Amino acid sequence: MVAEKRNLKALSQKELEFFIRDSGLPLYRAKQLIHWIYEKHAQSIQDITEFSIKLRAKLSEMAYIGGITIVNRQASEDGTEKFLLGLHDGESIESVLLPEGNRLTLCISSQVGCAMNCGFCLTGTLGFKRNLEAHEIVDQILTVSRIIEPAKLTNIVFMGMGEPLANFDEVVEALWRITAYMKISPKRITLSTAGIVPKILELPHKAPPVNLAISLNAATDAVRDAIMPINKTYPLRALLAACRRFPLKHRRRITFEYVLLQGVNDSIEDAQRLLSLLRTIPSKVNLIPLNSCEGSAFRRPDDETVLRFQEVLLKGGLTAFIRKSKGQAILAACGQLKAGYR
Ligand code: SF4
Repeated sequence: MVAEKRNLKALSQKELEFFIRDSGLPLYRAKQLIHWIYEKHAQSIQDITEFSIKLRAKLSEMAYIGGITIVNRQASEDGTEKFLLGLHDGESIESVLLPEGNRLTLCISSQVGCAMNCGFCLTGTLGFKRNLEAHEIVDQILTVSRIIEPAKLTNIVFMGMGEPLANFDEVVEALWRITAYMKISPKRITLSTAGIVPKILELPHKAPPVNLAISLNAATDAVRDAIMPINKTYPLRALLAACRRFPLKHRRRITFEYVLLQGVNDSIEDAQRLLSLLRTIPSKVNLIPLNSCEGSAFRRPDDETVLRFQEVLLKGGLTAFIRKSKGQAILAACGQLKAGYR
């Protein structure tokens, strides 16, 4: 029986070392493979010119370097680019490239669809299909890095489709590969969660020290229960207690994302409540006026309301930014990923 060829990207470091050893090759070949795949972006074993023709032929009989395919690429006038990426089983995900000053951030997905069902999020309405494997998470970065060369990604955010902490093991493995293999500093990686409390507590023990962002969006349990069902399992008190316990390096803070929804969470009282909730946590707040779009039950507050909300936070001593939603024209903004493809 002929053994099935192995996708080298799908192997963990240990599995790769076993594979190399079982193939009768010295262990340092595993390191070379990692270097060529993750730093030199080799797409096929034939690209690894450091290996002799004979070695490449031998390896090609047993293995291959898999990848995801770019199904569609759309650019917005503000420079945002959205990539629809095809997976091996016919499913697809999206990644969004966000240039801003000298930063080039890639927003990546962790699941196909999402089970969290946040009321303001069009991605959530797609439902949940499956978790991404670690290599599919990392492949989004490899694929986009390759096509933007010689430019380099400066930041990675887990804010695309899916709830990263609901796919904990694969996301943690992906984080190790991104930091150790691709040499992207954990300081430049942000993981955003809707608030799966036990996994927030576990993350610092298992993963490299990446930044944490909480998709908060409400300052009372009543409002949060209504727009984010996860809050019924892990209410604000438990969520913020977990944030207080999250270890932060010097001068680092937790980011709280707050999508402003007209008449739902955008009052002065909401801002005051938010202020008192976050007072004891080193935090910064990103206020994101909703992207009103077809299919959403919520509306964007007017600019005056947004500014007033921010002012309350600033006066109370919180760092608070108003984030322009980028890529709105191509449905690449928060909560809109894949919505246009349905
Ligand atoms: S906001 Fe995030 S966690 Fe909530 S449904 Fe959308 S993708 Fe899922």
